[in-house]
Amino acid sequence: MNNLHVGSCLCGGVNYEISGDFERFYLCHCPRCRKDTGSAHSANLFSTTARLVWLTGQDRVKTYQLPTTRHQRSFCRDCGSALPDLQMEGALLVVPAGSLDGAAPIEPNAHIFVASRANWDDDLESLPRCDGLPA
Ligand SMILES: [Zn+2]
Ligand SMILES: [Zn+2]
Repeated sequence: MNNLHVGSCLCGGVNYEISGDFERFYLCHCPRCRKDTGSAHSANLFSTTARLVWLTGQDRVKTYQLPTTRHQRSFCRDCGSALPDLQMEGALLVVPAGSLDGAAPIEPNAHIFVASRANWDDDLESLPRCDGLPA
């Protein structure tokens, strides 16, 4: 099994490589994740053993921690894309699934904080599916 994962931000200024495995993949619908993604939920992979190496652009990575909370995210200072983040004094690697350049190595485990979901976040699977822009 290939356990080397590469990823990057939208502008391409930041590239990273992660070696190792992920233990969990959660879709978090909490108000903080909705605010900082601008979407219905975050989609983060978690690992306590994988190693992160910044290949390019480490100086462009900014980290924001919401004061008095553990909510933290890293992002490209130029394009704002979500990027991997080390939390709990480096013990926990959090990787936004959308920042990976390839397929996610595991499937999501659960939707979490569903009680806090947006008022439009119900039965989204039943909406029409268009391969591109709607006709
Ligand atoms: Zn960028
Ligand atoms: Zn959350």
